[in-house]
Amino acid sequence: MNINMSVVCDDCNTVINCRVGMSNRRLQPLRFVCEECLSPIDINVNLGQGITIEGANQIETKGPFDSETAFVDLHLDFPVAFDKYIMGMTPFMMASQRCGHENMQIHAFRVNTLNEISERTPEIKKIIKLYRNNKEKLYRKRILSFLESNIDCKMKIDQNYALYHLLERCFSPFNEPTKNLETVEGYTEKIIWFAENKRTEFEKLLEELVGSGFLKNLQDDCLQLYPKMLDFELIFRPALFLDFDNTYENSRMAYRVSSHDFDEIKDLYKDISEVLSRQLVLIAAVNNLEKRGDHNSFAPLEKMKVPTSLNKYADVAFGQKLELLDDPWHSISKEVADNQLRNSIAHFKAEYDDVSQKLTYFPKREGIKQEKSEEMYFLDFSRKILLAYREMHKLNHLIKCLFVFYFMYVNPE
Ligand SMILES: [Zn+2]
Repeated sequence: MNINMSVVCDDCNTVINCRVGMSNRRLQPLRFVCEECLSPIDINVNLGQGITIEGANQIETKGPFDSETAFVDLHLDFPVAFDKYIMGMTPFMMASQRCGHENMQIHAFRVNTLNEISERTPEIKKIIKLYRNNKEKLYRKRILSFLESNIDCKMKIDQNYALYHLLERCFSPFNEPTKNLETVEGYTEKIIWFAENKRTEFEKLLEELVGSGFLKNLQDDCLQLYPKMLDFELIFRPALFLDFDNTYENSRMAYRVSSHDFDEIKDLYKDISEVLSRQLVLIAAVNNLEKRGDHNSFAPLEKMKVPTSLNKYADVAFGQKLELLDDPWHSISKEVADNQLRNSIAHFKAEYDDVSQKLTYFPKREGIKQEKSEEMYFLDFSRKILLAYREMHKLNHLIKCLFVFYFMYVNPE
């Protein structure tokens, strides 16, 4: 269902026609920016309760919309065009033309799951917080009630298992479910191979990772990211749709995200990149162990000095870390590990236009000289965060698998 409405901007009196596409979410906070005065205008839909508007006043709608008046299409669940109004070409219609009926159903299933999960966000955040702070008794009570399970959750290994069960269940809309399963199977095979072929060396690695607190800290860093994904789940809906939209890559068309705030979310990209950079330590360790029988041994490189230990590798910059992995068993694409974008955002070399939702960043801006810039739309940026999150989540499963082996065989409770 769509609602056509006209509003007049509080700040500059510009009249704007809006076509609001309804999602199934109970609360739908939609936001866009007035083209004339750059003020944000919020349209808050509360299903069954009505609509409130901030930053503008609703006026009488004179239908059908003309092509002279400013116009915005809005929909929480899909990327929407910045185009002029065309009757009938709603965001939903446009989206279903691009990705087909079956994919629309999968997308609908995922956003409906997000609708349910978003109602339970405080509960999920609380459980993760209890686990992170070792509040075992309350953690057990809350997580078992959430999972409607009555397993005995007294051992560390079971608490670990329950945690990842919760993550899989609540964060499945963000993930690619079959790929996650494949990835975990891959980790398990790798670990079994180590247990059978390089047991002593593997146990030495685990002792170092667990004994130094590295593995627990890394898990904790991952766990801090999940609540943030929930905080920004609205922003990721259009990015999730791109899983099915094969036309997007080549279309060079600008799409709007109907609920967004670049300033709020830019730190999340930095944070996930930071954690991914540390997770690379695990990839390197397994890679070194498998190829050279010693987790500290990196393959020599002509163009650069290689670290003499895993510990030293941990301090290397993100971009370089990737170069130091010789034919790694688990690759992270440079697309996801976009060092230039990350550095530009971290060092204030990025500018954002709220109206066009265009991000301009300067990977090589030095001093006052403005070097060549790169551009991307907010939708692409949110997609990048989503893909980085997926890598982080997969590697978080490696952390789980290493813990399971450690608690079962190396140091059972
Ligand atoms: Zn205005």
